[in-house]
Amino acid sequence: MPILLSQQPKEKKMPVIPLRDGVVFPGTEAVLTFGRARSLAAIEAAFAKDKLIVITMQKSPVVADPLASDLHTIGTVCQIDRMLKADGEINALVKGLYRVKIKLFDEGTSYLSAQVSEYPDDTTNITEEITALSNHIINQLRYAVNLGKSVDFLAFMNIMSKNDPGSLANQVAAVLEIKATERQEVLETINVNKRLELVSSYITKETKVLELEKKIASKTQEQFNKSIRDTVLRERIKTIEKELGEDSEENREVRELLDKIRKAKMPEDVDKKAKKELKKLSQMSSYNPEASYVRSYLDWLVEVPWSVESPNNVDMQEAEKILNEDHFGLKKIKERILEYLAVMKLKNEKIKNTQNNAKDAPKKTVNAPTILCFVGPPGVGKTSIGKSIAKALGRKFIKISLGGLRDEAEIRGHRRTYVGALPGRIIQGIKQAGTKNPVFMLDEIDKVGSDFRGDPSAALLEALDPEQNFAFSDHYLDVPFDLSGVMFITTCNILDTIPPALRDRLEIIHFAGYTEDEKFAIAKNYLIDKQIEMHGLSDINIKIDDNALKLIIRRYTREAGVRTLEREIARVCRKIARNIATKKQEKVTVKVSDISTYLGPYKFSSYLAEKKDEIGMSTGLAWTEAGGEILFIEVALMPGRGNLTLTGQLGNVMKESCQAALSYVRSRAGAFGLSDRFYQKLDIHVHVPEGAVPKDGPSAGIAITTALVSALTKIPVRKDVGMTGEVTLRGRALEIGGIKEKVIAAHRAGIKKIILPKENKKDLEEIPDYITKDLKFVFVDHMDQVLNEAMVKIPKLIIPKPVHIPLIKESIN
Ligand code: ADP
Repeated sequence: MPILLSQQPKEKKMPVIPLRDGVVFPGTEAVLTFGRARSLAAIEAAFAKDKLIVITMQKSPVVADPLASDLHTIGTVCQIDRMLKADGEINALVKGLYRVKIKLFDEGTSYLSAQVSEYPDDTTNITEEITALSNHIINQLRYAVNLGKSVDFLAFMNIMSKNDPGSLANQVAAVLEIKATERQEVLETINVNKRLELVSSYITKETKVLELEKKIASKTQEQFNKSIRDTVLRERIKTIEKELGEDSEENREVRELLDKIRKAKMPEDVDKKAKKELKKLSQMSSYNPEASYVRSYLDWLVEVPWSVESPNNVDMQEAEKILNEDHFGLKKIKERILEYLAVMKLKNEKIKNTQNNAKDAPKKTVNAPTILCFVGPPGVGKTSIGKSIAKALGRKFIKISLGGLRDEAEIRGHRRTYVGALPGRIIQGIKQAGTKNPVFMLDEIDKVGSDFRGDPSAALLEALDPEQNFAFSDHYLDVPFDLSGVMFITTCNILDTIPPALRDRLEIIHFAGYTEDEKFAIAKNYLIDKQIEMHGLSDINIKIDDNALKLIIRRYTREAGVRTLEREIARVCRKIARNIATKKQEKVTVKVSDISTYLGPYKFSSYLAEKKDEIGMSTGLAWTEAGGEILFIEVALMPGRGNLTLTGQLGNVMKESCQAALSYVRSRAGAFGLSDRFYQKLDIHVHVPEGAVPKDGPSAGIAITTALVSALTKIPVRKDVGMTGEVTLRGRALEIGGIKEKVIAAHRAGIKKIILPKENKKDLEEIPDYITKDLKFVFVDHMDQVLNEAMVKIPKLIIPKPVHIPLIKESIN
C-alpha cells in the first residue's frame, strides 16, 4: 500500500477523533466504529471535506468526552475510505497514512480539531542488523501463523511482500496481540531500528505463548485420547465378556481372591493349590454349579491363618499372677499348670537357641509338653482356667465341644465331593481363633462316641499327637495344616469313657468340687462382681448380704461347681437391674428376706441337717458325672407275700445289690430278731428318690442293707451318717470308686460321719485337709460294723459270727 509521505503538507489543521484503546498504524487499514457525538461530527466534517482525520488514543479509555489533555499527542492521519451509518453509529474503513504530532488542539464546538505536523521515521543509525531483524520478524510471524495465530489474509500478504523496515514494523505491530499502550509505544518509536527491536520482542513473546498453548492443547488432547481409548477398550471387554456369558463381577471376585491368596502367605504347596483352584474358577461360567463349591473352598483356604501367630512368650510371674487373680483356691491345680508352662518355656527357649545357631534351619513351633486334660464336674472352673492360660501366654482362646460327636468327619471335615462339605471342627476352630497357635480347648472329650461313620477319636489322636500334627490333614482342605503350635487342652467329666489310646496321651488334672465355704468365697470375690458388671450395674451400689449369699448356695443350688450359683446370682442382678431401671433406685442391699422375692421358693429344702433320724432310710453316697451326690435310700414294708419292689430307675447292678442286701438280711434274720420267714408276710419296697434320675452301680450295697435292717428292726438310722460300699451275701463290705467326689458331696451336705470300706482308706489322701478335718471316717470290712455305726442303737441280737446261708430263690418285680 503506497504511503504518500511526500505529498503531505508540513502543518495542517484537521479534525481529531480519539480512540478509547486503539492505534491505527500508518500503512494499515482498520474498520472503526464511532458512536460519540463529537466523533460523529468530526467524521462527517472530514468526509465532506478531504476525508482526512487524525486518529489518536485516549490516555485513559474510561474518559467519555476527552479534552485535549486526555489524548496522546502522537497520532495517525487516516483517510476515510468508506463509511456506513447505522443506529446512530458510523462504521468506517480507514487507512493510516502517516504519523503526526499534534501541536495545538482546538476543542471547538461540535468536534475536536488540531494543528498537526508529520512526525516521520528516524532512519539514522540504520545498520545491517535491520535486515536481519526484519527477516526475523517475518519468520516469527510465519511461525506464529503455523502455531495457529489468525491473521487477516490481506494483511499477511502485505507483510510478506517486501516492505521497507519501518512500515513492516507498523504492519506487524497492527496484527500482534499486544496492549493498546504497547501499540502506542510502537507508534511513538520513530527510530526504525528501535521499533523493529520492540516489535521483534513482542512477536517473540507471542510465539512463546503460542508454543505453550499448543503444548497444553496437545497434552490435553493426549489425555483425552487416552481416556477415550481406555473407555473404548473397557467397553469392548465388557461386550466380549457379555458375549461369553461372563460378568465382570466375577472377574473382580477372581482378582480379589488372588489378592487374598497373596496376603494369606500360605505354605508353598498350599499356595500352588489355591492358585490352581482359582484358575479353575476363573475359567468357569457363573452358571456352572461347581463354581460355588470352588469359591467357598477358596474362601476357606484364604481365611485359615496359615501364617498368623501370637508371640510365643511365657512369662512365669505374669502367668502366676493371672491364674491367682482369676481364680480362687485350686492351689494344686495352679501349681501343676505353672509347672507345665515352665516346661513349655524351657522347650521354647531351647528351640529358639538352636534356631539362632542354625539360621537357615526351618522354623519350628513349640509343642506343648503333653496334652492337658481337666477332669471334673461342670462349673468347677475348667474352662475359665483354660482362658487364663491363654491370657497368660498372650494367645487366643478357642473352645469347641465334642459332646455327642460320632462322626469322624466332624473332626476331620468332609471330602469336597459331598454337597455342603465343610472343614472339621479343628480347622473351624483355628479359623475362628485367627491364629495358628491358640489355646484350643476340646470340651467333653469323654462324650465322643464312635459308630459306623468312623471313629472320631482316631482323628483326634492325629490332631493331638505332636509327632503327627505338624501336618494335620483335613479332608475338606485337602492340604496339610500345621497344628504343632496349638496348645490343646481337653476337658471331661469322667475318664472311664475316653478310649485308652487317647487317654494315654493326656496329662490328667483333677478338679474336685467346691465346698460350701469355697463357693461362698468364689461368689463373693468373683461371681458377684462379674455379674454386676455384666448387668450394667457396676456404677450402682449393690451389696449381697453374706447370709443371703449363703442362703442362695444352700437352698437354690446343689452342685459340685458354681455354675448354677452364678446363674442364680445373675437372676438376682437381672431383677435388681429391672427395679433400678424402672424405679430409679440407687442403692440396693440384698438381704436374706429378699431372696425369695428375687429367686422364688427354695429349690432344695431337704438338707440333711434339717432331717431327723428315720426308720428305713439311710444316706448313701453316689458318684455322678456332675460330681458326688448324697442319696437317700428308703425302704417301706407292707403286708404282703414276699415281693421285692425296686423303684427309682435303678440299673441292673443296683437291683442286684438290693437282692443281695435282702438275701443277707434273710440269712441273718435271727440275729436281727426277725422270724425266719418274716418276708413271707411282707412286701418290701426299696425306693431311691429323685426317681427320674437313673442310678446304677454296686456302691449303695451297705446303705441299702442298713435301710432294710432299720425298716425291719424299727431302729432309726442316724441322719448324719453317710455310707458307701458294696456288700456281699456274707455281709462283707467291698472297695468301691469315686471316693473323693463322694466325700466332698457328703461334706457339702453336712454329713458328719462317713462309713467306708477298709480298702478305700488309701483314697483319702487325695482329699483336701479342709474337708477331712470336718469329718469322721469309719473304715469297715463287715456289715455288722456298719450297722453299729449307723443305727441309733445297736440291734440287740446281732451275732458277730457269720452264719450258714441257706439258698433262697427270690423273684423280683
Ligand atoms: P467348667 O468349664 O468346669 O464347666 P467354668 O470354667 O465354665 O466351668 O466355670 C463356671 C464359672 O465359675 C465361670 O464363670 C468361672 O469363672 C467361675 N469359677 C469356677 N471356679 C472358679 C474359681 N476357683 N475362682 C473364680 N471363679 C471360678
